[in-house]
Amino acid sequence: MGDAPGPVLHFRGSVLPDGPAEFWVVADGSSRSEERAEGATRLVDTDGSSRSEERAEGATRLVDTGVVRFAPQAGAAVELSGWAVPGLVDAHCHVGIAPSTAPTLELARSLARDDVRVGVTVIREPGSNLDTSPLDDELDMPRFVRMGRHIALTRRYIPGLGVQLDEQAQLVDEVRRQAEAGHGWVKIVGDWIDRSVGDLAPLWPDDVLAEAVGVAHAAGAKVASHVFGEDALPGLLAAGVDCIEHGSGLTDETIAQLVERGVALVPTLVQIANFPSIAEPALGKYPTYAKHMNALYERRYDTYRAAFDAGVPIYAGTDAGGFNAHGRLPAEIAELTRVMPPADAVAAASWRAREWLGFAGIDDGAPADFVVYADDPREVVAAGGALTPANVVLRGRVAR
Ligand SMILES: [Zn+2]
Repeated sequence: MGDAPGPVLHFRGSVLPDGPAEFWVVADGSSRSEERAEGATRLVDTDGSSRSEERAEGATRLVDTGVVRFAPQAGAAVELSGWAVPGLVDAHCHVGIAPSTAPTLELARSLARDDVRVGVTVIREPGSNLDTSPLDDELDMPRFVRMGRHIALTRRYIPGLGVQLDEQAQLVDEVRRQAEAGHGWVKIVGDWIDRSVGDLAPLWPDDVLAEAVGVAHAAGAKVASHVFGEDALPGLLAAGVDCIEHGSGLTDETIAQLVERGVALVPTLVQIANFPSIAEPALGKYPTYAKHMNALYERRYDTYRAAFDAGVPIYAGTDAGGFNAHGRLPAEIAELTRVMPPADAVAAASWRAREWLGFAGIDDGAPADFVVYADDPREVVAAGGALTPANVVLRGRVAR
């Protein structure tokens, strides 16, 4: 490499979970350049040379994406200090759906910025109506883990959301289609209210599920499934799904199966908190369903505490994009402290979730995505405080 760029950032303090007391961020010398158009910041691959470029209203200046270096770096740098934590992960967050409006890239971009502001550098989006992949080229956007579109049945899910099939047997072909899109995950809606039954009920027969999950795995995709109630879980777990979203109907038996099969769980406690308001308008027409939703709500902390105690890997997710606003990951971390120790709640939103999804922590040579807090975030959370970042660093740049 020609001119070695000086460090961009220098951090000194404490690094979680177990990093050195200081590190530097340097330009990664990778082949990306940047141009700004209509408020967006877009990364474009260039020829493998060492700098990248930003154009804003006619001006051109050199910028870089950054990587972490543990070895001391000479030169001027922005100084950061406090507690550094690997960039947060909202493991269940939708920027490509929005209530009562058609999603657009512009809206998705602004919702994602609300998440970045609280420290989110990775959004795992379990189902989107909008293809948000153009955001991957934008320097100030978090990194995305996508699943294509939700797969559900007609009249058995939120109207207009995802792909809604007419026949249960169509699941296999639709899963194949979504898996071949290559996002690495597929999202199947496992249960929803069945109005003919008046309660939550599975959408798919066990044999169809088993075939569909097999098809996804053969195509190299993992499968996540939305489940609220108890009854859909045995069939989904027998089929081999990789992650349960919500899982409010878990029982000792199905928790044991999650442990045995190494299935992950994203509870979305801030979404479960909405169950009473979902149940309320259904009380007159679907009283069994309404009571069921309230019962799942009432036992939520017991359910997830049992899952954590049994050894289920649990990750933090807000389900923003439906009923929930973006930027609420700190609220989900606070909720998780009701079912696990504070240090685990922070880990579930940071390094453990990153490891699960294949993102590095604050490691030598890793992309510089991290959050800095003034105080130990585990103690802040333990004391019931809200986690407010002093700085959010994304791709080596201070985003907050
Ligand atoms: Zn969701």
